[in-house]
Amino acid sequence: MNILILGSGGREHSLAWATLQNPKCDKLIVAPGNAGIAKIADCAKIDIMDGPEVIHFCEENSIDFVIVGPEAPLAAGVADDLRGAGFLVFGPSKAAAQLEASKAFTKEICAASNAPTAGYAHFTDHASASAYVAQTPAPLVIKADGLAAGKGVIIAMTDAEAAAAVDEMFDGAFGDAGAEVVIEEFMEGEEASFFVLCDGENVLPIGTAQDHKRVGDGDTGPNTGGMGAYSPAPVLTDEIAQKALDEIIRPTMAEMSKRGMPYQGVLYAGLMIKDGQPRLVEYNARFGDPECQVLMMRLGAQAFDLIHAASESRLSDMRVNWAADHAITVVMAAKGYPAAYEKGSVIKGLDEISEDSSNMVFHAGTTAKDGAVTATGGRVLNVTARGASLQEARNRAYDMVSRIDWPEGFNRSDIGWRALD
Ligand code: AMP
Repeated sequence: MNILILGSGGREHSLAWATLQNPKCDKLIVAPGNAGIAKIADCAKIDIMDGPEVIHFCEENSIDFVIVGPEAPLAAGVADDLRGAGFLVFGPSKAAAQLEASKAFTKEICAASNAPTAGYAHFTDHASASAYVAQTPAPLVIKADGLAAGKGVIIAMTDAEAAAAVDEMFDGAFGDAGAEVVIEEFMEGEEASFFVLCDGENVLPIGTAQDHKRVGDGDTGPNTGGMGAYSPAPVLTDEIAQKALDEIIRPTMAEMSKRGMPYQGVLYAGLMIKDGQPRLVEYNARFGDPECQVLMMRLGAQAFDLIHAASESRLSDMRVNWAADHAITVVMAAKGYPAAYEKGSVIKGLDEISEDSSNMVFHAGTTAKDGAVTATGGRVLNVTARGASLQEARNRAYDMVSRIDWPEGFNRSDIGWRALD
């Protein structure tokens, strides 16, 4: 098959890496890609938010199958455009991607299907939201309804913070995403991510992970897109995963189908677990980044068969071939991230790392310039390793990190601490 992957992050590098291991892949193009992806596949500079441009590219390049990595093209309906033009696509329709693109939509689906989640209220005007927080004691979680690149959630531990968060949202801090606001009960517990593939009817679990959102060691400092992740997540036991499937994910899928918007693609459920009970924090309509990197490392070539089967509504025939292994990824970011950071610094030492099926440096914000790899983004590299134990995987990953010569970068030194302690 001729395959096109849309996206340019560590997630797409790992998807490309797993896809290339599968004999079904004849030709792989990634758009727009990055310096790491360019070493293993062709990269094409097209606007992945522009459905007609992507369709034209697919026609010109005889593409058989398109895998959509990030949420923005899904929410913009690029998967629908491609399907409308007759292409096979991995990724939900714009209607189904509302599970990520609108928090109010997801809360309503959970209410309709009795899925355990935080109690909530939904507001479209400033005055009513302010009146609600004035009457409801903190802690509260104030969320912009729409896509806000993972930044539209404020955890207000005091009444004053809650009032200020509502003002911030309605004053436009998150643009259109904050035109509607969801206010939730604060849930305590331990968070974990559960990934399932869906083909509109069937659901197949493909792994669990935990990530590290805070920038600093010991989970301190501001939130980021994720500074590292590991799989599996020990807190998500088989029993809790089964509960999440029975009480949250399958009822959601049934409700989506009932509403005429069957879900096809990967569904990433963020769960809060307390006393053996999972509750839904949020859904995402795509693989997490950096969680995808650890899932791909554990699944290897079969990841493509599973993704392909989900897209062709054949998931009922599929089984995951699990190895009793662990994977971890350590994110290397540009100094200053998640605030302002410099672009253009040179990263050395990458050639000295021998990459294989258990050790990979997945690139995120990099570009190749004059034969050198330079940093172009906040999160830049995902140093990923697999091992028989989490400790072994972690030792390998940090050994690779130590070989990378990049004074302008930094990384957390404690990825995986929760599972190891
Ligand atoms: P979301 O984008 O909805 O996943 O929210 C981002 C992060 O905020 C989550 O990963 C949680 O750590 C936290 N969070 C969101 N909603 C809640 C809630 N109702 N209770 C506690 N923490 C939450």
